[in-house]
Amino acid sequence: MEWSWDRIPAEYVVANVLLARDGKIASRPGFLHVKDGRIAALDVGTPALDGLPVLDAGGLVCAPGFVDLHVHFREPGQEEKETVATGSRAAAAGGFTTVVTMPNTQPAIDNAGMVRYVIDRGNEAGLCRVLPTGAISVGRNGEAMAEFGAMVEAGAVGFTDDGSPVVSGKLMSNALKYAKSLGVPIISHAEDLSIVGKGCMHAGYWSTRLGLTGMPRAGEDAAVYRDIELARAARGHLHVAHVSTKGVIDLIRRAKADGVEVTAEATPHHFAQDDSHCRDYSPLFKMNPPLRETDDVAAVAAGLADGTIDCIATDHAPHTATEKELQFDQAPFGVIGLETAFGAGVTYLVDAGKMDLGHLIRCMSEKPAQILKLATGRLETGLEADFVLLDPQGEWTVGPDTLRSRSRNSSFLGETLKGLVVATFLRGRLTHRAQAPDL
Ligand SMILES: [Zn+2]
Repeated sequence: MEWSWDRIPAEYVVANVLLARDGKIASRPGFLHVKDGRIAALDVGTPALDGLPVLDAGGLVCAPGFVDLHVHFREPGQEEKETVATGSRAAAAGGFTTVVTMPNTQPAIDNAGMVRYVIDRGNEAGLCRVLPTGAISVGRNGEAMAEFGAMVEAGAVGFTDDGSPVVSGKLMSNALKYAKSLGVPIISHAEDLSIVGKGCMHAGYWSTRLGLTGMPRAGEDAAVYRDIELARAARGHLHVAHVSTKGVIDLIRRAKADGVEVTAEATPHHFAQDDSHCRDYSPLFKMNPPLRETDDVAAVAAGLADGTIDCIATDHAPHTATEKELQFDQAPFGVIGLETAFGAGVTYLVDAGKMDLGHLIRCMSEKPAQILKLATGRLETGLEADFVLLDPQGEWTVGPDTLRSRSRNSSFLGETLKGLVVATFLRGRLTHRAQAPDL
């Protein structure tokens, strides 16, 4: 049987690929044998499988489907920015097969019914696994703890009030204990509002020069310090979202050495871009936490390279063009990131000599999956066949027409990135195929 992109068979072989396993890229071509949505076999060399349709991948890298622990799909409530379906399309285009949604929708995901609603929308779209987190507090108002048990039963994979910090230390402590008993992490949006105030960019040289109110590093450092100490005492699992300061990385490094169960993620914009990008007052560079200084950017890259920061997460945060055309101090925080994550990683980490491609891929697949104990993120016989074909040398320019998200607020617009996602497969089914290169 011939290979056909239009009719992907139940059993096939992807041949002539460089397999990405255990943080390394194979030096010799190999193959992946897919059967009934699972990985039936994989190895270097030529498969001894006669009669099966073969996709000759021409030496592309075959990696586990990417896993993003931090996306905002805006449904329900702000469907004009993104829906679970449009967000899933963007995820597939970025090589993601699993995404974890944040609960700061309108209304918030703070009960079992809402968790099921997001899962159902994800299944309907069918383009990636959509795993919801639930809110820590009812209505994300920081007061009463939400029903963790019922939400975990419905499929929630963690809890967070992301978008806002949990101001009450008592609530955070109780949440850490309760979540631990259910086997899931508390994801911390670490921000001390009494320090950050009404800041709209990092507090430093550029905020002074631009006359914009700054958000000091201390606002993030102090909040992470508190949460680590609460996790230590509660023996809970703390996952620190979107790490952006060198101070936080030092805190996490020390906590890990002490045996505190703390994991962390960083976004592509925080390892690729510094606060000088705000110089033209473009709200495309307004996010929270903000772009920081050059040494923070370097520390985030180094933290990912040495494992202090476990994984890359995008904090994909779509906003309409109208909102992002407001003045810098008026515009909402956040940028999209699913479709540029791999390119930014290759360009700013691998090509910049900060880590090799195998480690980058691991930070986008195996390590985030491990944090949530998901049975994905690796190429391994028996697992569901979630995989991507990558051209690490391929270049592309990020333009409004290349993006599939419903929103266009990318901080990489106009940049030429290296690193192309050529095709994405979820459970053996094609969910995305790039226009070029044509396989
Ligand atoms: Zn956040």
